[in-house]
Amino acid sequence: MKRIAVYPGTFDPITNGHLDIIARGREIFDELIILVAKGENKHPLFTMNERIEMVKCAIKQFNNVSVSPLEGLLVSFLKENNIKFVLRGLRAVSDFDYELQLAFTNKNLYSDLETVFIMSSNNYIFLSSSVVREIAYFNGDVSKFVPSCVEEALKRRFKKSGR
Ligand code: ADP
Repeated sequence: MKRIAVYPGTFDPITNGHLDIIARGREIFDELIILVAKGENKHPLFTMNERIEMVKCAIKQFNNVSVSPLEGLLVSFLKENNIKFVLRGLRAVSDFDYELQLAFTNKNLYSDLETVFIMSSNNYIFLSSSVVREIAYFNGDVSKFVPSCVEEALKRRFKKSGR
């Protein structure tokens, strides 16, 4: 049986830190689906469509990775599609509490589910979408932190808003 995993997140926008987790995760699973959550409580900078387009562009080189929107509850998506693995990335200790809570809650709702964690690589340990947004907002250079299509999208986004 094929081992399929999802990598859920807000991806606002996708960064090289996310991509590092994706590149390593796709070696563990036969198929990896990036699930872009609405993240309404986080008031994302980019729309769901924009975030999906950026992910698409960033994962072009990976033949077993795809992207899909997550409209409802993660466990509902997993049950409907008969998927049992969830991939998440761990950076500093600060991620741990939140990730533990999330993993336990999901396991409670769907006992077959396993959350698999991959530790961030050294280079990306302090990289987050919010840091990238902040640098781009002040016209800083984000080329080391995001794929080029994301860099372009950030430039367009902040030009439009008059920065
Ligand atoms: P969420 O809103 O679900 O936290 P994010 O897009 O911020 O969505 O992150 C999705 C997942 O990717 C989380 O597990 C997060 O810890 C992980 N992640 C984000 N940035 C990095 C990074 N630089 N290195 C490793 N994991 C990361």
